[in-house]
Amino acid sequence: MTNNINGIHHITAIAGDAQRNLDFYTRVLGLRMVKKTVNFDDPGTYHFYYGNETGTPGTILTFFPWEGVTNGRAGTGMATEIGYSVPVDSLPFWAERFSRFNVRHGEIAGRLGETYLPFEDPDGLKIHLIASKYPDERKPWATGEVTAEVGTKGFHSVTLTLRDVQPTAAILTDVFGYRLEEQEGDRYRYRTDAIPTASIVDLVAAPAMSRGLSGGGTNHHVAFRVANEEVQMAFREKILSRGLHITPKINRDYFFSLYFREPGGVLFELATDNPGFTVDEPLDQLGTHLKLPEQYESMRASIEQSLPALH
Ligand code: ZN
Repeated sequence: MTNNINGIHHITAIAGDAQRNLDFYTRVLGLRMVKKTVNFDDPGTYHFYYGNETGTPGTILTFFPWEGVTNGRAGTGMATEIGYSVPVDSLPFWAERFSRFNVRHGEIAGRLGETYLPFEDPDGLKIHLIASKYPDERKPWATGEVTAEVGTKGFHSVTLTLRDVQPTAAILTDVFGYRLEEQEGDRYRYRTDAIPTASIVDLVAAPAMSRGLSGGGTNHHVAFRVANEEVQMAFREKILSRGLHITPKINRDYFFSLYFREPGGVLFELATDNPGFTVDEPLDQLGTHLKLPEQYESMRASIEQSLPALH
């Protein structure tokens, strides 16, 4: 697994109200908030990270909550669906829970040999809970209401909607080491053997659909996982050699990042395992303090004052 793309590292989406986002993901969905920080490029905005106990790559969903943000629109050139792996018998629990909390959701259905429950978060972000047909030994974060028997284990997959799947598929197969595993209708499933979980990218061909519009309730980017900066920089060379633009290495405090737009229009990131979320908070206190990157620490008082209060 050392020199490979090890599946999804994290997915980042846009939300509206910060408190509503926090309540939904920690209380209704039962995720752990593993880091509460600010958008490093816009410190007047929070950056929330939700995941499992330790914030393992492959479990991390992050949000920029922008008060009063205009809603986006799903379309091509965008990650349009997040898949979470859940224990196989847990879907009825979730359907009942979503009904009780007035979460917009569909019926339990089947696709590619797996059953799933589709729902939307309060901003309209589309997520599927999937009873995965692949073994998944990851341990869910447990809360009082969402126990380990039913809790989410981390990502199963991400779905990208594209006008033409081929250019994006070529990045997945020729650069990232994925292969086409299955197809059902307009959905093409790519998977890597480098890691057993969070290893799936589904490409949906939608040649007639209009381009997605970034905004509340849409995904901002998909980060893929690499073991360390050495592997990351080797992939940077591979991306450059295909004539694509890619950023220099950026320090995100909890990982190092590179960004590039893949030919289908989706913003991809390559993010490292190191140093991880315990770099500035002990494990038992993850997500409980507002953490700021060094360059903003001197502005802490004014930043804290400008951010929406959370309870
Ligand atoms: Zn990211």
